[in-house]
Amino acid sequence: METKIDTKIFVGEHRVVDVSGIKIGNGHPPVIIAGPCAVESEEQIFKTAQAVHKVGAKILRGGVFKPRTSPYVFQGLGKDGLIILKNVADRFNMPIITELMDVEHLDVVYQYTDIIQIGSRNMYNYSLLKALGDVDKPVLLKRGMSATISEWIMAAEYIAAHGNTNVILCERGIRTFDTYTRNTLDLSAVPIMKMETGLPIIVDPSHGTGRRELIKPMSKAALACGADGLMIEVHIDPDSALSDGKQSITPEQFSEIMDEI
Ligand code: PEP
Ligand code: MN
Repeated sequence: METKIDTKIFVGEHRVVDVSGIKIGNGHPPVIIAGPCAVESEEQIFKTAQAVHKVGAKILRGGVFKPRTSPYVFQGLGKDGLIILKNVADRFNMPIITELMDVEHLDVVYQYTDIIQIGSRNMYNYSLLKALGDVDKPVLLKRGMSATISEWIMAAEYIAAHGNTNVILCERGIRTFDTYTRNTLDLSAVPIMKMETGLPIIVDPSHGTGRRELIKPMSKAALACGADGLMIEVHIDPDSALSDGKQSITPEQFSEIMDEI
């Protein structure tokens, strides 16, 4: 058993994070974040936003700086994509979330986004975490793909220790011996992280499983064990998506999930 590292700020008292008026955390209804893995075009984002907004998604997601495993594939539209995402979201009055990969892009991401996403690959990027301490916007901190609970807690603590306590956790699956799924979604992290830190926690069943047929059952399971929300990848045409098509669901499939949860 690993020993828990002592925290100074996130000591288990329940916290609620306010995202442009939407409250995430204890005592508030689960918040559903939806949208494509990556912003590909204005039409793609508009159609997706329209569809997910209609069935109750509260926050629009879309990556523009993409941490792709291969350097030879689509890397995201960068600032142009961010402006498209922001303009479309404004038409539906939805806050947005996008990933920040590098301190270099902090100013531009800060300018447009409502939540700054720190991806799994950057959970251990302590200089990036420190830089977020100076920022007054909520940070969604994804679990590193091989991060222990203690490491993840201390990554959150890094952001807080440097001045920003508006942290939302995101369980997105961890690497295990099994490769049937892209990752193993560790739902035990939901009650554990709530107990240990008191922070709101969102579950991402898309990266957590890598398979679209598992999004519905794992979404239900995540809410059943106390998740404060979900982040789901939705694409108007998953099979032609420029990233993460296999785990993306159609707006129709998303609507079905929203009906059932
Ligand atoms: C994403 O949300 O598209 C993403 C890249 O997630 P993760 O950092 O969990 O792999
Ligand atoms: Mn993705």
